Amino acid sequence: MNTDMETTRQGRSVELSILVPVFNEEDVLALLFGRLYPVLDALERPFEVLFVNDGSSDQSGKILAHQFEQRPDVTRVISLSSNAGQHAALIAGFQRAKGDFIVTLDADLQNPPEEIPAVVAEMDKGFDYVGSIRASRHDRAWRHIASRLMNALREKITNIRMTDQGCMLRGYSRDIALEIAASNESRTFIPALAYLYAARPTEITVAHEERAGGQSKYSLFKLVQLNFDLITSFSSVPLQLISITGIVVSILSFLFVCYLAFRRLFYGPEVEGVFTLFGITIFLMGLLLFSMGMLGEYIGRINGLVRRRKRFRVASVLEADEGVKSPVDEAGSAPGPE
Ligand code: UDP
Ligand code: MG
Repeated sequence: MNTDMETTRQGRSVELSILVPVFNEEDVLALLFGRLYPVLDALERPFEVLFVNDGSSDQSGKILAHQFEQRPDVTRVISLSSNAGQHAALIAGFQRAKGDFIVTLDADLQNPPEEIPAVVAEMDKGFDYVGSIRASRHDRAWRHIASRLMNALREKITNIRMTDQGCMLRGYSRDIALEIAASNESRTFIPALAYLYAARPTEITVAHEERAGGQSKYSLFKLVQLNFDLITSFSSVPLQLISITGIVVSILSFLFVCYLAFRRLFYGPEVEGVFTLFGITIFLMGLLLFSMGMLGEYIGRINGLVRRRKRFRVASVLEADEGVKSPVDEAGSAPGPE
């Protein structure tokens, strides 16, 4: 392994970067190290493990720094100044990964590290993007249902075709990763971008396990936000649906007014059906509010892009090359609101 260590230390010839976003994962990191490093050592090719500490407030930062001391030859730790979200953390990693292939992995061991060789084998065959499908999913039941619905919606209204959008154990060629990092979107959904950019994508089935400890870092609100990111970044169909609904409602209400005018002329003034009218009006008000919210989703993202605010700032980097650098005034190229 000595030669591998040398090449890795010099920052050259790293073939494989394993990229792990970490947000408050103190309960699982030791278990992750215990399973991840042996798998990578057994691969016998120059690798690095790049942890992106996404503004953790627990002991994760310390645990990662300790792991860096254990394996400084193959470990790098990037710390963001605050919690920017899993996908922003991945972009921070893509910008700095040195490997020809980059394999992303969740820290909570839901993606078994033992599956990494299978992803690498696909990349060796020349695929520039390796997506993944969870053989059997181990999450809460409501997450299964919600994600099945989102999968179906995404299939309908975007041109992104992927079997399983939720699994983050995926392989990216360096070119694709850099392209994604440069895409300059304020908020995005990385696997979907990869499908857009990949020339030779493929998918494999991988095992999925229960979270090894701690809690999911996605609240219901964060999940909804992420799915809005997925839809609004890749489709304008919701906006078109609003226009179509507007047209249909206008036609129907015009016909209704004609009908009422007809009755007024031939039957005189009437007051029946007031509650039906209330019902219709309130329904239309709901539709209006929903449409405004949908517009707001798009406008909010445009607003983020216009402000050109950095989405994250790299506060410190632990790597063997130049020793410990801190703080570094580097920032993500992806501006946007947080
Ligand atoms: N994560 C992150 N920033 C966040 C939320 C999550 O870096 O704001 C990381 C988290 O530490 C984990 C991965 O993203 O490594 C997936 O998160 P989690 O397991 O909580 O999501 P779930 O599996 O429930 O979808
Ligand atoms: Mg998880």
